[in-house]
Amino acid sequence: MKKAIAIISGGIDSSTLLYKLVNDGYEVYALTFIYGQKHSKEVEAAKAVTSKLNVNHKVIDISSLQEILRSSLTSPEISIPEVSAEAKNYDLKSTVVPNRNSIFLSIAVGYAISIGVNNVFYAAHFSDRGVYPDCREEFVEAFAHASELATDNPDLVVDAPFVKMNKSEIVSLGTKLGVSYELTWSCYKGGEKHCGVCSSCRERKRAFQDAGIMDPTVYER
Ligand SMILES: [Zn+2]
Repeated sequence: MKKAIAIISGGIDSSTLLYKLVNDGYEVYALTFIYGQKHSKEVEAAKAVTSKLNVNHKVIDISSLQEILRSSLTSPEISIPEVSAEAKNYDLKSTVVPNRNSIFLSIAVGYAISIGVNNVFYAAHFSDRGVYPDCREEFVEAFAHASELATDNPDLVVDAPFVKMNKSEIVSLGTKLGVSYELTWSCYKGGEKHCGVCSSCRERKRAFQDAGIMDPTVYER
């Protein structure tokens, strides 16, 4: 059976990726990181989604990164920005965790080599390319090449299958695959419900709206 490591955050994109890989016949080793984010809701969501699909799942705690990586997602002194529904070009720079995907992918590649797996996937997508440089296709290609060199393994594949898709296309695909979106978590704040007004909630709402699919999420606002 073909095997893959998938980086799973518990959000819409990576949960859809997980369903897609299982559907494509992969034996998946899911990997979730505690990197010092302000709440554990997404980690709980990742556990729920992986256990629903009965795939291997490891949660790796690198939370001490919080001491050195400055972002509104990790630094207590920086608040998570709220954005209005109409805003188009809001400033999301504070939500960037510097080099996060490179860090996660590096660890995932180390895991892949350790257990003899040649495929490493993560759920970067087109809608994130503006703000998050390590979600861009050119980054994915360069990282894949660097990983081959770093491991001396020409068979190693590092890829982001959704890199040309936007979030609403991901929701459409996931709905066809039967993703339990009610189990997933997107909100940058760790409240009882999704806040509805952080940029991640706004994008979640918009993805379902644009896809014309009923959003199962309960929002605060
Ligand atoms: Zn939110």
